[in-house]
Amino acid sequence: MTPWKPAILNMKPFGREYDREFTVESRSGSGKYTLNLYTYTCTCPDFVQRRVERPLGDVGRSCKHLRDAVLALDIDSFGDELTRVIFKSPHGPYERIWFAPGPDDEIIALGIIENKPWLNLFIRRGVGQPYDRYGYSPSEGRWSYDSIPPAARDIVRLMAELPGGLPR
Ligand SMILES: [Zn+2]
Repeated sequence: MTPWKPAILNMKPFGREYDREFTVESRSGSGKYTLNLYTYTCTCPDFVQRRVERPLGDVGRSCKHLRDAVLALDIDSFGDELTRVIFKSPHGPYERIWFAPGPDDEIIALGIIENKPWLNLFIRRGVGQPYDRYGYSPSEGRWSYDSIPPAARDIVRLMAELPGGLPR
């Protein structure tokens, strides 16, 4: 039995006052996309192909454009602490988030974007502690620079038990 459980992290949905469309440039400069925070939609391929089916409020519904728009509002209470940490992480927005208890009973959250080489781990060592973030590349078998969590080998073994396996 896998120790991993899928996590659904929810943000507070935006109210009617956000029901308006606005346009952003794509990051590559090759197009423009239209967003609406009330319907929580974007016209970019990432949203249309991968995220639109997610329910309103699910963090996995956010493409980069929706995330940037939310962060630009500079509100700090759109979800619980882990939701905010994961949502603001520069490598997201993640499509899937998994939880497992760590080797020392810490809380481990794993953020995954399909087809991306790096996984992000968020590890909390106890109640009231902050979440520390780590990056791991399954294909290269290494942690990102100078940032190796305690019990790293156990955590790598734990990640191998992820349902469906690790993305490669
Ligand atoms: Zn988008």
